[in-house]
Amino acid sequence: MKALAANSWLQALPQQVQALRDQHLLRTRRQVAPQTGAHITVNGQPMLQFCSNDYLGLSQHPALVAAARHGAMELGVGAGGSPMVNGHSTANAELEEALAAYLQLPRVLYFYAGFATNVSVIPALVGAGDAIFSDALNHASLIDGCRLSRASIQPYAHADLADLERLLAASTQARKLVVSDAVFSMDGDSADIAGLLALCERYDALLMLDDAHGFGICGPEGRGSLAAAGLTGAHASPRVLYMGTLSKAAGVAGGFVAGSEAVIEWLLQRARSYTFATAAPGLLARALLASVAVMQQGDGLRAQLQARIAQLRAGLASVVSATGWQLLPSETPIQALVVGDNERALELMAALSERGIWVPAIRPPTVPAGTARLRIALSASHTAADIDQLIAALHAIISMRQGRSA
Ligand code: PMP
Repeated sequence: MKALAANSWLQALPQQVQALRDQHLLRTRRQVAPQTGAHITVNGQPMLQFCSNDYLGLSQHPALVAAARHGAMELGVGAGGSPMVNGHSTANAELEEALAAYLQLPRVLYFYAGFATNVSVIPALVGAGDAIFSDALNHASLIDGCRLSRASIQPYAHADLADLERLLAASTQARKLVVSDAVFSMDGDSADIAGLLALCERYDALLMLDDAHGFGICGPEGRGSLAAAGLTGAHASPRVLYMGTLSKAAGVAGGFVAGSEAVIEWLLQRARSYTFATAAPGLLARALLASVAVMQQGDGLRAQLQARIAQLRAGLASVVSATGWQLLPSETPIQALVVGDNERALELMAALSERGIWVPAIRPPTVPAGTARLRIALSASHTAADIDQLIAALHAIISMRQGRSA
């Protein structure tokens, strides 16, 4: 490659990367291949993982794999165009119908990715002169969607309805959008959906909920956090826009929004990543149609997952009392063990990794400074023995550290 001019700003990039390395903030990738259950190979080494969003283990499910295979044979592997031209396949249309029926919400729009859903849905709903009220711990895709909209962004303290009400009451903008994760991706706690909706009704706001981590997991038949709050079917509100990803419990890829006929029709007109991106290939919709059926009948898988969550929390109680670390309150597959500083989180991750266990260390800017953590993600494919192995490894690491400092 040719050399850059000595005064080019591009010369500074290697130093910027080095600065990240010095602060223990450098991100690296590993090459991963699935084995069975929660076991994978990482850079060729066998590992037990606690980092997947595949909460029900459906990414390897034979019914989904067969549906994708048949889909590819019948439909090919690419959609060939955007949904407004030739990309809206019969399979994609069937998926929207099936999701709406499963969720008990009037209408669904299916996007090629969850991230793309959020970054274009929010700017389609509000713009300059409007107001967005956003939970301080919302996911990056919601934050980016808010920024792209050019509306006035008013963050409220995490899960603090009084703070939200203070901002709503003071707002002069007529069009108000409240945006929140339904299950928070780094802490694992759940939003008070009924409380949020009551405020939206009082102040004439629309509520957008991102249930990436609750869809397929929470509520009756896994229909998600909105169903768990009793706000679907006859109790569905035209003030709620429910968003979910199809890449986590559903086991495949994609995103969707579900809501009233009027809001979904507007999004079909204005959501730019829907209109100007190639539609998801129909083979994925076929896999997702199989996934919806498995999720709907998945009470057994969800019971298994809940048992693992309870087992892990019980086991971590002794880790917490031995160390003073904090296990955040969570009833979801996301369990955050907050250790504080970045270096310690990385050390723990490395020590677990030496024992063949992969738990990711999450550091700023993904989480607030001083709250670096191990983010333990559970799945129905974990066995009771897998959880025991993680707890035992943590105890072994802690007693080694305590031995060293004694
Ligand atoms: N919302 C939340 C809360 C998420 O955690 C994620 C993914 N990490 C997304 C949206 C984006 O979804 P996808 O990965 O399906 O693009």
